[in-house]
Amino acid sequence: MDATRREALASLAGMSGVAAFSFGAYCQTADPTTPITTVKPAAAPVASLAAFDATKGEYVLPPLPYKSDELEPVIDKATMELHHGKHHAAYVAGANRALKELAGIRDGGDAGLVRHWARELSFHLGGHVNHTLFWNMMAPAGKGGGGEPTGALIAAIRRDFGSFDKFVAHFKANALQVEGGGWGWLVLDTLSKRLVLIQMESQQDRFIAGAVPILGVDVWEHAYYLKYQNKRSEYVDAFMKVVNWRFCEQLFDAAVA
Ligand code: MN
Repeated sequence: MDATRREALASLAGMSGVAAFSFGAYCQTADPTTPITTVKPAAAPVASLAAFDATKGEYVLPPLPYKSDELEPVIDKATMELHHGKHHAAYVAGANRALKELAGIRDGGDAGLVRHWARELSFHLGGHVNHTLFWNMMAPAGKGGGGEPTGALIAAIRRDFGSFDKFVAHFKANALQVEGGGWGWLVLDTLSKRLVLIQMESQQDRFIAGAVPILGVDVWEHAYYLKYQNKRSEYVDAFMKVVNWRFCEQLFDAAVA
């Protein structure tokens, strides 16, 4: 693993509130009938994870790792521009605001407002983390998007879901059944070191502490309504054509290293 990638993933792990490099010997605990092999992951656009400015001590909006029209026809340009430039940017601003307000409370402000700003921080920082991951979990079809995972990740998917097809069906149903705005997530649970599919409501509710995100799909209406209107299932079907499995493999490999 080169230094840039290690740094980016370490930064991502810190941002997600998890320790991606501390999960120990996953391979030793796996079902011996389906051994997990370690493979060298392909390069991924991790440079675009620049989501925090350490000098300023502020979260920043990272650039998209592709042009805003490059995911078409799966995701249209107008949706990408609004989603990234307006929605994601608002989560960044909200997270910075919440941190500032909480600092003000420590400096003598109204301690009764901690609950309010703690909730604001969860929502907005959650949104920032989710979207930073989401952009990188996609790539233009034929330029890294689509296909199937390889290496240790596909081995773990087959072990934990039965087959890739069963995983995809479960992933879609999971995303489809999120109530209201939220996310469908494939995560690595840190107790079992196994993959599970969980739902997230809003930008943080129902998530499991320590779970490491591997693949997520945003099913807030702002993610698909311009093109798909109420047809969330068509959006999720199309999403699978732009999944950047190489990036997901890097997250998985780092989490089990
Ligand atoms: Mn969104």
